[in-house]
Amino acid sequence: MQRYMINTRLLAMRICVRWQFFIALPAFCLVTRSALGGVLALQSLIVLMLAHELGHAALARYCGLQVERIELQLLQGSCVFSAPRSEIEAIIVSWGGVMAQLALFVVFEALYHGVQFSSAGSQFLYPIFAVFIAWNAISLAVNLLPIEGVDGHTAWKIVPAIRNGAFMEYVRARRAAAPVTLRARQ
Ligand SMILES: [Zn+2]
Repeated sequence: MQRYMINTRLLAMRICVRWQFFIALPAFCLVTRSALGGVLALQSLIVLMLAHELGHAALARYCGLQVERIELQLLQGSCVFSAPRSEIEAIIVSWGGVMAQLALFVVFEALYHGVQFSSAGSQFLYPIFAVFIAWNAISLAVNLLPIEGVDGHTAWKIVPAIRNGAFMEYVRARRAAAPVTLRARQ
């Protein structure tokens, strides 16, 4: 039995999508009242969730951790990487997802307000904006709640880490440990 519906490689890591993810498609078709709208919304959701997990992956790599794979399931994703060696590494990696989502939110908000679309175009773009702006904002808010099971549970520990200097100490140590070739380009 095939475990994943999509199993591919991107940026030297495995990207896996479970079949349950596609349960969202009929729901999106209903909400947007069109098959095309549903497909566009689902594709946008894949991009948004992938960006979230790639954000975690990028910061995990910054911390020198090994990223094994990214998994997308029904309305939730996960980034599987080697165990953080300290709490500050877990805190830093936990910010990757929301930072990526926030970047997409800013870009799509600017596009939404800054570009005049024809009525046919806006009908076509509505499901995309709905995911990258409305869904994204709700997901960001939920993700940043300081409760078990979401990124906010670990992420907000950055406040005491900044106050007691542990965060800056770690950033300085990473910079010092960066390969000579990387430092030479700065
Ligand atoms: Zn996350």
